[in-house]
Amino acid sequence: MTSSVSLAEQIRGTGFSCRRCGSCCRETEPGSNLVMVGQEEITRIMKATGLSFEEIAEPYPDRICEGDRDYTFGWVLRRIGDRCRFLDGSTCQIYETRPWICRTYPFMLDENGLSVYPCEGIDQDFQTPDAVIIAFDLCRRYAYEREQDEKIRMIIQSETIPAGRPVVIDAEGIKDYYG
Ligand code: SF4
Repeated sequence: MTSSVSLAEQIRGTGFSCRRCGSCCRETEPGSNLVMVGQEEITRIMKATGLSFEEIAEPYPDRICEGDRDYTFGWVLRRIGDRCRFLDGSTCQIYETRPWICRTYPFMLDENGLSVYPCEGIDQDFQTPDAVIIAFDLCRRYAYEREQDEKIRMIIQSETIPAGRPVVIDAEGIKDYYG
C-alpha cells in the first residue's frame, strides 16, 4: 500500500486547498453528497451532539430487491433536502467529529492508489498545509473501510437476510430499515 509520506506528496501535487465552499456537502448531482458512515463514526457524533442515531444517519438509499428480500448496505449522514443535515450556510456544525469521508474529501484511497474527485479546491496556487494530516486520515479511513467490508462479508456468510421486511446490513449485523 502507498505510504502516508508518498500520499502527502501526491496530495500536494494536486494543488488542493479547501475553499470552505460547502459544495461537497450539497447535492450537486444525484447522490453526490452521500456520506457513508460506520457505527463508530455515528456514535462519536451522537456523543458530540446529543442527537439520536436516527437523527444522524439514514439507510444507504439504493436498496436491493431480490424476490421478497429487500435490503441495503450501511448508513449515510441524514440529508435535509439537498444538504447534509449538519451544513449551516457553508459551515460544518460537527467539524471536529466529521466522518472520514468528509475529512479526506476530495481524495479516496483504494487498492489502486489515490483517486481525486472533482472539487473547486484542486489546482489552487496555495497548497494545503494539511497534506500530511489528510494522508494520515486517508490511511486510517482505508483501514476502517476494509474492516467494515470484512465484517459485512462475514455477516452475509453467516446470517440469512430476512424476507418480508426491508433491512440494513452493516458491520454489526442486520437491522430494521427506517426512512
Ligand atoms: S458532516 Fe460536515 S463536512 Fe461532512 S457533509 Fe456534513 S456538513 Fe459537510
